[in-house]
Amino acid sequence: MINIIGLGPGDKQQITPLALEALAESDVVAGYTVYIDIIKDLLEGKEVIATPMMQEVERCKMAARAAQGHRKVAMVSSGDAGIYGMAALMIEVCEELGIDEEIRVVPGITAANSAAAVLGAPLTHDFAVISLSNLLTPWEAIEKRLDLASKAGFVIVLYNPTSKKRADFLQKACDLMMKNISGETQCGYVRNIGREGQDHKILALRELRNETVDMFTTIVIGNSTTKVIRGKLVTPRGYRM
Ligand code: SAH
Repeated sequence: MINIIGLGPGDKQQITPLALEALAESDVVAGYTVYIDIIKDLLEGKEVIATPMMQEVERCKMAARAAQGHRKVAMVSSGDAGIYGMAALMIEVCEELGIDEEIRVVPGITAANSAAAVLGAPLTHDFAVISLSNLLTPWEAIEKRLDLASKAGFVIVLYNPTSKKRADFLQKACDLMMKNISGETQCGYVRNIGREGQDHKILALRELRNETVDMFTTIVIGNSTTKVIRGKLVTPRGYRM
């Protein structure tokens, strides 16, 4: 049995009871070192397969092999394992290796949810989620999605907004979107959700363009109706009062 588990943004209160149950039942827990660290006090007596970032395929293969012989394996990701996480790869690897243990995906609170809650209620209407990482997606495809989503009036949630190698990607993304939407569009970002040092800011798109953010940040770009009410970022659903 393989459980692919989303751990939520970082604090234990945002891990679902189902995820805790699946973790408690498992004999082996596999994940990226940083996430393993978050749940380390839940791992007593369990075999742990912790591998650094960039070794995703190897980590999944190790986890899949560990599931042979009736052991229960948990593969953990932050947020939701099926949203820029390991869920698809884990299923692909099991197929590739011919490992036919049962696979279950246990959902978690993704960064879009938890960031939106910190900021207020910016995702009450249609929204799109786009990762700015070009590790697995060509930058041209990312640009096309930013262009079309902003043209279509979606609120846009940005994951993976930056890294050392692509320090100017957020700036480029903002400039591209400002061809379609106003620089006054209300936006927000949240850093380290549910972790030490959580902070957030609400600002206009033209200001966001000049911000320095890190990879532990999730960004929300509002649409033309998004506004700030009582210090909170709000996209009205459209109800009349
Ligand atoms: N599976 C994860 C996303 C992994 S991609 C999920 O569902 O949330 C990594 C990106 O997610 C980061 O670059 C950041 O944009 C966002 N993210 C994940 N956890 C976060 C947190 N605790 N605080 C802020 N952003 C976070």
